[in-house]
Amino acid sequence: MKAITLLGSTGSIGTQTLDIVAQYPDQFRIVGLAARNNVELLASQIRQFRPSIVAICSEEKLPALKEAIKDFTPQPILLAGDAGVIEVARYGDAETVVTGIVGCAGLLPTIAAIEAGKDIALANKETLIAGGSVVLPLIKKHSVKLLPADSEHSAIFQCLQGVPNGGLRRILLTASGGAFRDWAVDKLAEVTVADALKHPNWTMGRKITVDSATLMNKGLEVIEAHFLFGLDYENIEIVIHPQSIIHSLIELQDTSVLAQLGWPDMRLPLLYALSWPDRIYTNWERLDLVKMGSLTFGEPDHQKYPCMKLAYAAGRAGGSMPAVLNAANEQAVALFLEEKIQFLDIPRCIEWVCDRHERDNHPNPSLDDILAADKWAREEVLKATENLENHSRIISLR
Ligand code: MG
Repeated sequence: MKAITLLGSTGSIGTQTLDIVAQYPDQFRIVGLAARNNVELLASQIRQFRPSIVAICSEEKLPALKEAIKDFTPQPILLAGDAGVIEVARYGDAETVVTGIVGCAGLLPTIAAIEAGKDIALANKETLIAGGSVVLPLIKKHSVKLLPADSEHSAIFQCLQGVPNGGLRRILLTASGGAFRDWAVDKLAEVTVADALKHPNWTMGRKITVDSATLMNKGLEVIEAHFLFGLDYENIEIVIHPQSIIHSLIELQDTSVLAQLGWPDMRLPLLYALSWPDRIYTNWERLDLVKMGSLTFGEPDHQKYPCMKLAYAAGRAGGSMPAVLNAANEQAVALFLEEKIQFLDIPRCIEWVCDRHERDNHPNPSLDDILAADKWAREEVLKATENLENHSRIISLR
């Protein structure tokens, strides 16, 4: 039985991971849970999965959580705040920590888990994008495993099983095309938050669904693939595949191409990250290619979706630039979700901030440099957008 700690237990990744744990109670048990602020759901997860330790990130919610489980035994250790989440990440005999926290907030708990010798099921790509230059040496130093739970990177990882070192030549990351793939470019200026939250294929959290609509998600995944699999950016390509059946492909030195296929269901990459190298039998719906009919492919449209090129540029610049790109994106998406900026302002904000970081890019950033760059980038986005009555005026910033 594998002992698991889950960070971000009430989010999309968290609830799908717990769905797996509930289906396989003889394979997995929960040691720790951490969530942002959803007291009701967290309390019901405590009753169902009986963790030893729990943290709620919003400190003001701790009394409500205590109240909600006061009649329950065994009582878990209850903690709050960022420090509480870090304590959960490093606690006890958990072998694997699933990182389902949204954004760069996952970085410090992930580092704590690695330093405590735990394998990481990486469902938080921002950790690696912002902190790759710090996280990867720690993975090596503590001899822990980094198991990708992002569907594309899980696909690549699955295809790589049995491929010898040096055998990989190129990565082809598939992209669904997001919520606006069938929209004309000139309509994108008018999109609403509700429009952006309608993903055609995948069920995911709000932030990543907006990232899918801008295709920044794919750009971030290019950087994630670079850190995970060590290829240069020239050898990581994006291909649009609207059906999301092929979750990504690898090309080997001899031009042979391998792909991993399945219905778009996040539980599959999560299960593999937890069961690797084993394969667990499931009764989930099996892929039916005849029912699917056809699979199609297209080139990404960089005019319509500038975020991909911004991500490639930040990845190639390296140093603290990916952290800046990621933080500017997180802040811009948050403002879009609050209806304070428009959809097309998201790439404008990111470009504005990345341009300003060029002179100050740390080629070899420490954790403190990364955290400082992250904070600076968020402030720059807020400064650039705060005084705009008509938010489309951000165009004048360029
Ligand atoms: Mg993905």
